[in-house]
Amino acid sequence: MNQYGYYLGMSQDQKDIVAMVREFAERELDPIVREYDEKSEFPIPLHEKWGEMGLFGQDVPVEYGGLGLDAVTRYCISEELAKHDAGFLISNSCYAFGLSAILADGTDAQKRAACDRILRGEGISMAITEPQSGSDVGSTRTSAVKVDGGYILNGTKCFITNATLCSACVILAVTDPDAGYHGMSLFLVEKTDSGVSVGKHEDKMGMRLSDTADFIMENVFVPEDRLIGVLGDGFAQSMKFLAGKRPISVAGAIGVAQHALDLAIEYAKQRKFKDGPIAKLQGIQFMIADMEMRVQAARAMAIYGAQMTDAGIPIGTLGNCLKAFGSEMCYDVVNMALQIYGGYGYSREYPIEKLLRDVRLYSIFEGTNQIQRQIIGKTLLS
Ligand SMILES: Cc1cc2nc3c(=O)[nH]c(=O)nc-3n(C[C@H](O)[C@H](O)[C@H](O)COP(=O)(O)OP(=O)(O)OC[C@H]3O[C@@H](n4cnc5c(N)ncnc54)[C@H](O)[C@@H]3O)c2cc1C
Repeated sequence: MNQYGYYLGMSQDQKDIVAMVREFAERELDPIVREYDEKSEFPIPLHEKWGEMGLFGQDVPVEYGGLGLDAVTRYCISEELAKHDAGFLISNSCYAFGLSAILADGTDAQKRAACDRILRGEGISMAITEPQSGSDVGSTRTSAVKVDGGYILNGTKCFITNATLCSACVILAVTDPDAGYHGMSLFLVEKTDSGVSVGKHEDKMGMRLSDTADFIMENVFVPEDRLIGVLGDGFAQSMKFLAGKRPISVAGAIGVAQHALDLAIEYAKQRKFKDGPIAKLQGIQFMIADMEMRVQAARAMAIYGAQMTDAGIPIGTLGNCLKAFGSEMCYDVVNMALQIYGGYGYSREYPIEKLLRDVRLYSIFEGTNQIQRQIIGKTLLS
């Protein structure tokens, strides 16, 4: 955090909530990160403590009993948590991943039930990706066939964050195979529905505190009242859902980058070269300066996006720019921090190699950076 907080004009409430998150993370998360990274597990008791701090309600609107925090405050919380562990941040925040889709297009009853569930600490995941369709969402195969009183769903969703931990999942499924992008719809599928199972836990390179697995549906009956929004609008809803989350999602990348920068500064001041610290070398100073410039630029862009969201202004291609720029900035900054650490940066005894493993994800998930560039280019040239 710079001398102004995350941004100029940060309110006292925002500073207090960030201080509370920092204190929680230093006390509860920092001591166990290495162990949970090694065993690749999400520490569930810490999610429960998150709830004890009243933070289950951060994404839940006030009218449904939550805190209804604005996007800027949620940005600040995520950046702070990511400084301690980005994988924990991802799974912890993905308890409410599917909630946004329900809040955007669900009925009042669906919204109320989903909010109650989040406030109880139960998760709702979001499943778009399938083995043959990641970037190419148009190739979705999971089917939802109309039957009396509802739909029968069949298909496998892969790489689903919190597939093991969640109690339900918002699923994108094909309801009209002849209608292309207008033939997909969103459904809420309960983990307890007959025919639902979860695949093996993904043994990932990084973000190992985050849970990722397949969500499998075999002849799952879903009643009609679990269709979210209008039949056939699922693709548009999913894209709107991802776009709306950009400023908060990228906060994780910025938090890790800031953490790597702080570590690099500390290390450069104490690591000796001949008579003085390496911090006195211009080559090191330039790297630190480049890191600071990039973190500041990404944060300014993200806060701007969050402020637009709070003002109800669609962020459009700013969200795609933010996703691609923030994730690449983060990888470069952590890589430079590793360079400053020299051989120790490459050692698992020091903190940087884990950060580099973690941040590699940011340019892949929630739409790869090639897809972000494709959208930006096409939009500007249309
Ligand atoms: C840890 C983790 C958590 C995830 N969590 C979730 C989740 O909760 N829910 C969910 O639905 N999904 C989730 N995903 C899936 C993620 O969103 C996809 O992995 C991502 O969208 C990319 O899809 P893919 O892996 O199939 O790659 P592909 O789409 O097969 O892409 C392979 C390569 O081809 C490039 N490419 C593809 N199409 C184009 C194009 N048109 N132009 C140029 N290049 C292109 C890509 O950029 C990439 O480099 C998660 C993934 C991971 C790794």
